[in-house]
Amino acid sequence: MARVACLFRGAAIAEQIHSDNHGRILRQLGGEVEITPHPVNSGITLENLRTAVAGEVFEVVILYASFVELARQRRDVVVERACTWALESEKAPARLFKEAMARVESEGEESWISLADGFYVCPGSGYTTEQQREADRCGVCDCPRNRFGIIR
Ligand SMILES: [Zn+2]
Repeated sequence: MARVACLFRGAAIAEQIHSDNHGRILRQLGGEVEITPHPVNSGITLENLRTAVAGEVFEVVILYASFVELARQRRDVVVERACTWALESEKAPARLFKEAMARVESEGEESWISLADGFYVCPGSGYTTEQQREADRCGVCDCPRNRFGIIR
């Protein structure tokens, strides 16, 4: 389960990057940003993964999709870009959490969860991958791969 914990750490860093990006834009638009952390109840691993999958899928399919559409309607390219980056980068943890769930449910199956040496997070978009050598640049925001953080 150490790899699952590592995945949650990577996803948390990606969410912080999204939060920082959105906060910066809100401040540029004259808004105020107040951060109120919510308490988290950690349950059993499978339940944590189910909750994480549901959250990531909601963000991809509903939340960021509606934000991107609204930004397009308002012709706000800065907000559209930030929300598109968040939307695209959230697809990766959604996939990784689903794979982790399958791994936890079917003990013994080989997968990245036992093979990955960590997770790599883009500092620009929060894109997260288990692939050590995927591409020279982030597929979401074009950030150079050598700037990715490594989460172990
Ligand atoms: Zn990126």
